Amino acid sequence: MSTSTEEARNVVVVGGGLAGMSAAIEAARHGAHVTIIDKEKNIGGNSAKATSGMNGANTRAQKEAGISDSIASFKEDTLNSGDGLCNVELVNILATNSADAHEFIRGFGVNLVDVVQLGGHSNKRTHRIPPTEDGKPVPVGWTIVSSLKKHIENEMKEKIAVVTNAAFQRVIIEDGRPVGVKYTDAENQAHVLRGAVVLTAGGYANDHTDKSLLEKYVPDLAVYPTTNGPWATGDIIKRTEDINLSLVHMDKVQVHPTGFVEPSQPNHHTKFLAPEALRGCGAILLDPQGKRFVNELGRRDHVSAKILEKCGRFEQKSENPVVAAMLLTDDVINHFGAASAGFYKFKKLIQDVGTLDQLSAFLKVDVDTLKATLSEYNTAAKSGEDAFGKKAFPHAYAESEHFYVAYITPTLHYCMGGIAINTQAQVLTSDAQRLPGLYAAGEVTGGVHGNNRLGGNSLLECVVFGRIAGQHAAHFSSL
Ligand SMILES: Cc1cc2nc3c(=O)[nH]c(=O)nc-3n(C[C@H](O)[C@H](O)[C@H](O)COP(=O)(O)OP(=O)(O)OC[C@H]3O[C@@H](n4cnc5c(N)ncnc54)[C@H](O)[C@@H]3O)c2cc1C
Repeated sequence: MSTSTEEARNVVVVGGGLAGMSAAIEAARHGAHVTIIDKEKNIGGNSAKATSGMNGANTRAQKEAGISDSIASFKEDTLNSGDGLCNVELVNILATNSADAHEFIRGFGVNLVDVVQLGGHSNKRTHRIPPTEDGKPVPVGWTIVSSLKKHIENEMKEKIAVVTNAAFQRVIIEDGRPVGVKYTDAENQAHVLRGAVVLTAGGYANDHTDKSLLEKYVPDLAVYPTTNGPWATGDIIKRTEDINLSLVHMDKVQVHPTGFVEPSQPNHHTKFLAPEALRGCGAILLDPQGKRFVNELGRRDHVSAKILEKCGRFEQKSENPVVAAMLLTDDVINHFGAASAGFYKFKKLIQDVGTLDQLSAFLKVDVDTLKATLSEYNTAAKSGEDAFGKKAFPHAYAESEHFYVAYITPTLHYCMGGIAINTQAQVLTSDAQRLPGLYAAGEVTGGVHGNNRLGGNSLLECVVFGRIAGQHAAHFSSL
């Protein structure tokens, strides 16, 4: 392999997901010439798959909807969720800059105005996009990513170049300082890009390569299915071992409680995510006995653990995953967005079951048990809290409802661990030194989420720290 070309650009962004695009736009706005490299044919990464929304406190959308929130409460929820492992300074930056991050995204025409409450939050602060006037769903991650991409390709094409099929190989170090990156193209030709570097290549929740980070740090979880795309293999972390980066919380990999189990292929390795917003809109979880067993809006790690503890394997076959039945009604589906739910129905991930008697036959659970489950839920909803600590009850469950069921299973979803950064998104070495000109943002970094990421915090993290990294990289490259 030889170095075939030598190009000079002043900021190089490795990875074209939301963190990378945010960094690139911000760096270009601050005067830099930017190149984004991405190993895939298209940019977007896992960011394009996001379905539940992006968090923010004191946003314009919250104010317009009459939701009273605070930075302090957002910070507290994030820190509580992280079990004392979050980097408090980074969380402070995340929450304080959240409303501005929303303005940044809305500046590209993304209508982030539908605000719901997800698990672990004490308020409605996860922002989604309402369906179109003719009822078509508007997927949040895809829409954000496409809007930024369009902006890059049109308004910023003189300032930002996007090179796809370009796989990062290593950071080039000269005289002990990072000065650019080496990547290979689809023909395995090597190229060099010089400039300040922003690492935004995402996580490793689908890393089953030879030197699998899942096998190394969380061998017990490596067998779980994943919601992540094939690109999520932690390349950056593996290929920067030579520069002694500080890695934090590498054993903190989030298992999302609700990956959809496709009845025709229950063991498929990649799962569609049953978005947390479904539970936020009122979906409840039942064990094989037809009883609720958890606060559906509890933290992801707690809900996942309870499913594994209380539920059985799909169709009672030992080779199948452990599943809970997610119960939905028309009210829940309409609240979530009938059109979005229509996709899951079409894929047979949400099954149209019918009356309570039909539900009883479908779940093979006695109808009186189901009646008792619904009655207990409705009584708790009236009192404002149930035996599992649930305090938000978007919809009652009448016996006369039309019922829908989805089988769900805990699924690898997100890497809380990664490269340590400081509040300026500068990459830190294992002896806590900065590496001048090297920045990182998004899921490739660790420290913001501690032990357990709150739903909706990752898109926000990408925008907040991506922008910070872009600004500082642009400044560095002008020195
Ligand atoms: C199904 C799903 C739903 C989700 N829903 C939400 C949600 O609703 N809200 C929320 O906040 N979070 C959500 N998340 C998490 C969130 O989407 C991601 O954590 C976040 O978008 C990661 O963004 P990123 O820019 O750091 O990485 P990514 O968006 O994954 O982008 C990384 C990019 O780097 C590229 N890359 C990787 N390796 C290399 C290499 N060696 N060389 C060059 N390029 C490389 C990849 O091809 C990819 O394009 C969801 C995740 C999934 C999987």
